[in-house]
Parts: sequence; structure tokens; C-alpha cells
Amino acid sequence: MKTAFLYTDRYFDYDYGEIHPLKIERLRLTFELCKAYGLFELPEAVLIETNPATESEILRFHTPEYVRVLREASQGTFRGLYPHGLGPGDNPIFEGLWEWSLLHTGATLQCAKLVADKTVNVAFNIAGGLHHARPDRASGFCYMNDPALAILYLMDLGFRVMYLDIDAHHGDGVQWAFYEEPRVLTVSFHQDGRTLFPGTGNVTEIGRGKGLGYAVNVPMLPGTGDDVFWEGFSALVPKLMQCFKPDVIVSQLGVDSFVEDPLASLRLTTDSFCGVISFLTDHAPAWVALGGGGYEVWNVARAWTLAWAIMNGVRLPDDLPESALRLMPESRLRHPHPTSTGPESCRQHMRDCVRFIEEKVIAILAS
Ligand SMILES: [Zn+2]
Repeated sequence: MKTAFLYTDRYFDYDYGEIHPLKIERLRLTFELCKAYGLFELPEAVLIETNPATESEILRFHTPEYVRVLREASQGTFRGLYPHGLGPGDNPIFEGLWEWSLLHTGATLQCAKLVADKTVNVAFNIAGGLHHARPDRASGFCYMNDPALAILYLMDLGFRVMYLDIDAHHGDGVQWAFYEEPRVLTVSFHQDGRTLFPGTGNVTEIGRGKGLGYAVNVPMLPGTGDDVFWEGFSALVPKLMQCFKPDVIVSQLGVDSFVEDPLASLRLTTDSFCGVISFLTDHAPAWVALGGGGYEVWNVARAWTLAWAIMNGVRLPDDLPESALRLMPESRLRHPHPTSTGPESCRQHMRDCVRFIEEKVIAILAS
């Protein structure tokens, strides 16, 4: 057994609400598309039912007071003003938000355990990657920071962890959790914080104290396409891996960086996304792969299905299998592959970022 995919139908007991952009349903579409391609019948792949995390596991990162409020908000028994980032808007209070959070976090911790004890080389939790949550605050649709909890679990076992985040939004919650920690290298490619939530992730954020040089940020201008992203990724990530020598990669594979995503303004496609997945499949010593953002649900399903295929060494045909045709609306079936070339200013900005990181961060890591 080499790869594991975590999943449960219980995800669909919960709902952020009709007008909220985060649709839990995208997980079902991904699962169904993988199934239609026969990707759970491969000899070295295993499908594992998600178990919820326990409260004591959550307390490794989140504060007792925040945990209490999450529980009460979830049960509808919290009385008072909306505290800790909860309330109408990004982080709505809905029935079962505590149980939903325990599920996506539990699956991520299961991935970390499977990889740590070498049961599998790669474990994929499409429900994970909620990278904005802070120890005492919900943020950006995230109540629990499952990537940070997985990294802490692995760090406690003595692993050196590289966190790689390609979501359109800066992986702020994870970065700040390990900003002074030299055993964890955080690397985030995202849309420039001057133009998108959460506003952080400037190239000059490179860690602090003992962690100086252990945070890397590659902010990309709106309009950045595959070619420019890939120029930056291939200039930096292999070198960072060579210098840091991680034991495990934890990756957040958000696809709101895609050209048609309604929440962000990057222009990536499955071309560069699959390049990242292929690179990690070939080079990660062990890999906890997590989902993340992605608000055009058909693109999410297609991208994460492609990712699971590549992790298993399978190359999918462009045509959908017969049994998947009913999953997608007619308008998405004859959908042209979008162009992903952005303006020239994006390339210059990327080159400036790469030069800065080579001079200020890789120099520290290499010394
Ligand atoms: Zn995002």
C-alpha cells in the first residue's frame, strides 16, 4: 500500500449556508469523479473512512476558551456577541460546525499518522487545508487549522516538515504558527496580499528569531499565469528542499488560483497544478496532501481527481468516463482549456521575488 485517500459521507451533514462560497459538496464531486475513473481500485491505493479528531488533539494548537466557544456556537447555546472571528460573513455559525471541523481535522491527522508510521508514502485529505484559522480565532472560512495540527504532530515525533501552500490566499495561519520555528519551513505561493485576503505574505516575511529564513513567501500579481508561476516554483522549490532536507512535506493544494475562480484573480490552470503534483510525487520523501480553497466546484473536482491520479502514477484521458457525464452540467463538458498567459509585469515581479528569496532566505538555509 502506497497511497491513502481519506473520505466520509458525514461531511455532507454540514453546510456553511446557501450563499457561502465554500461548498462542501465539491468533496462529493471529487470523490465521485475519482470513483468513475476507477481510482479507488488501484492495487496500491487504499480508501480510508475519516474519523473525527479528539478535543485533546485540537488543544495542541487551539486555546481551551476558543474550543469552548466553537462547541457552544455549534450547538446553538452560545450567548453573547460574536467572538473569536465567528459570525455572519466568512465564518458563519452553523449547526455542527464543531463536528465538521473535527472531521476535516481528524482526516488530516490520520494522514499524518499514516505517513509517520510509513503505512503509506502519500495520504490525501481533500477536506483539509483550512490554513487561516488561528489558535483563538476563526478566519477565512477556517475554524480549525488542520495543517498546523498535522505539522505539530509530525514535529513532536521529530520530523522536519516543509509546508508548501499553493492556495490563492496566503497561508497565514500556518506561517504564524511556525514563524520562529526552524524545524518547519513554510512556503506559500499566493496572490499578492495588497489585492487579496488576508493581506499578508509579503516577500519580506522570512521568519523571526531562530526561525529567521524558515518562512518563504512568493506573492504573485493578479493575472499571473502558468508560465510565470512555474518559473518561480521551479527556481525555488527544488533548492528549498535541497537546503532544508525535509522528512515530510505537508502541502495545501488550494485551487482558487485557477483562472475561473470567482474569489481570486490568478490565471493558473491544471497545467501548472499538475506540474506541482508531479514534482511532489517524484520528490517528496513522504507527503501529507491536503485540499484547500476552490470555489468553482467543477474545477475543484477535476483538479483534485487529477492530483489523486498522478499520486498513483495514473495518467487520465481528457475524456470523462461515461459514468461521470451525469456529474457535470452540459456547459462544463465542452469547456475549452482556458489560456493562462498573464501580463509581462507579473513575470518581472516574480523574478524580483525569486532574487530576493535567493539572496535573503536560501543564503541562510544553505549556510
Ligand atoms: Zn484560498
